Amino acid sequence: MVLNEKINVRAVLFDYDDTIMDVSEARNYARQVIAYELSSITNFDQDHILGVIKDVEIRMESVGQFDRRIWFKEVAKALNVELSIDEINKLVRVYWDSWRLRSRLFPDVMPTLSELRRCGFRLGIVTNTDGEPGLKRGRIRRDGIDEFFDLIVVAGDDTKYVKPHPEPFIRALHILGMPGNEVIYIGDRVSTDVPGPKAVGMYVGIIKRYNSLNTGDINDNINPKPDFIINSLFELLRILECL
Ligand SMILES: [Mg+2]
Repeated sequence: MVLNEKINVRAVLFDYDDTIMDVSEARNYARQVIAYELSSITNFDQDHILGVIKDVEIRMESVGQFDRRIWFKEVAKALNVELSIDEINKLVRVYWDSWRLRSRLFPDVMPTLSELRRCGFRLGIVTNTDGEPGLKRGRIRRDGIDEFFDLIVVAGDDTKYVKPHPEPFIRALHILGMPGNEVIYIGDRVSTDVPGPKAVGMYVGIIKRYNSLNTGDINDNINPKPDFIINSLFELLRILECL
């Protein structure tokens, strides 16, 4: 995708999962652990449960529901098994512990953040809630990169609406004290990461992680469109002339 104007911004905001954090393994591993746990208390085999979990995941994410307690209640309903509140809570704990164990920073993140800071950009995260107040912020803190950022907006915890709604981006602009056209947002999902920031006048770049991405996602019918697509954050440094 070709940029047809010079991008002159003072702040760079990032999505979190799949943009800064490589959670592809974490997501799979956490699902598998839950399937294992559920197979030990039901008669279903793990593959069947895994399929149910994936279906519920897609359905829940499409309506902006990130609370794993709700997810696992839905899984139990689909499997037609009764789970107590304690059992659900245990699953949620095991799920996030497994997730943390297998998530890691993409290797281009630290060098890019350091360079952007050196070039004087203000940095932030705009991410959706993990479904429970404080959970996502705690995860970011434990991942050890919160100190790099001037602001962290957890949509759904700090705001009423989650991405793709513009509210979390309005909140970020308010904290920065900048107009939208002085800010750029980098995310990995066209459906959730483009409409919100575009609605408030930000530039938007989509990063293709895992060499795969939903490129089916990116086509001529997409509206609004991202301003550019990159394969690595290092390309962002070039776009922002921070070299
Ligand atoms: Mg993401």
